[in-house]
Amino acid sequence: MDKNLMKKYAEFIVKVGVNVGPGQTLIIQSPVEAAFFARACAEAAFSAGAADVVVKYSDEQLTRVRMEKASEETLCDVKPHVLRSYLDYVESEGGACVLNIHADDPEALAGLDAGKLNRVSLARRAALEPWRKYTMNDLIQWCVVAIPSSAWATVVFPGMEPQAAVEKLWQLIFEVCRIDADSDPVAVWKEHTARMSENRDKLNALDLESIHMTSAGGTDLVVGLADTHTWEGAASVAGNGIPFIPNIPTEEVFTAPHRLHVDGVVKGTKPYVYNGQLIEGFSVTFKDGKVVAHSAEKNDELLAQLLESDEGAAHIGEIALVPASSPINRSGVLFYNTLFDENAACHIAFGAGYPGTVRNGINLSKDELLALGVNDSAIHEDVMVGSADMTITGLCKDGRTVTIFENGEWAL
Ligand code: ZN
Ligand code: ZN
Repeated sequence: MDKNLMKKYAEFIVKVGVNVGPGQTLIIQSPVEAAFFARACAEAAFSAGAADVVVKYSDEQLTRVRMEKASEETLCDVKPHVLRSYLDYVESEGGACVLNIHADDPEALAGLDAGKLNRVSLARRAALEPWRKYTMNDLIQWCVVAIPSSAWATVVFPGMEPQAAVEKLWQLIFEVCRIDADSDPVAVWKEHTARMSENRDKLNALDLESIHMTSAGGTDLVVGLADTHTWEGAASVAGNGIPFIPNIPTEEVFTAPHRLHVDGVVKGTKPYVYNGQLIEGFSVTFKDGKVVAHSAEKNDELLAQLLESDEGAAHIGEIALVPASSPINRSGVLFYNTLFDENAACHIAFGAGYPGTVRNGINLSKDELLALGVNDSAIHEDVMVGSADMTITGLCKDGRTVTIFENGEWAL
């Protein structure tokens, strides 16, 4: 990979994505394979004035061994120090921000007991809930990015030699993240986020009651929106006042659906990786916000487990609009990674909504959020439903009907 571009990518992620502030501690979560990239991000963080950088390494192969050999009881018993290892930084003077680096093997856990994986992952989420709240509520800056691993690259480019596939995936990531040798990524992203903000502001001005999504593939879904919902997109602002970009790349403008007002059928348009396994060709039917029927050509039982994770898992917490012309979709490549694939197509998320997608939401209690229609769950799983022939119309609270998307593109 081009080392200069890799450095530029790392600097852009740290300085614009996380936007590390002077005196803050940057927590980096990284797979062991991505250590070189974590180091480049650490360098960039210190040059941006970070007080310290704490790297937490994970090892997918070891995770697989543990998931296979350790008992469910042991795996679900998350020790208190794991939670403290985050809270100690975030609660200290100067505060913390967090960067998650993904370099996943999409099928790292394939073939393992999906029920056990799901229960372990839910136990971990529950144990880390006080920490998760910091990112779910945007109390601190957080950012998720990815770099190629050979396992991931060879899934994306089957039949290629691992090294060549990794190289090709690096180039593609630079491309869809708008990183090149000649331009300044900070300026390029300023322009990109300004365009997204314009669509977001137009949607907010419409004061919508619901949106109606249709496509030739069979999607015919009415998504009622949460009371006092606000459309978000491009940059977010953390509770500490610092702007950041939660996901890189990002092409989505999103909000909170009303958890009880979603009706109709929606078809998955891209395969979806859940707990290291693929769900493909799914169809989901909603009534009064709840999934009442579902099927999938591949791993339907996995989809069933996802939807049964808890009460909120069979409702949706996010609706996101992404034009078919997004660079990720135009690349024509399926990334087998939600971070990229969710930016290729309109999507919904099973599970929790973001408090930040209703007015003053981060200051509201769980019950207040639920009353507005914002969903609650331990999971948040984005699944892609958009296509190049998708039409979306909006019903405004004043009774007007407006076209929002035509042939998969913004039409506001
Ligand atoms: Zn999204
Ligand atoms: Zn999401």
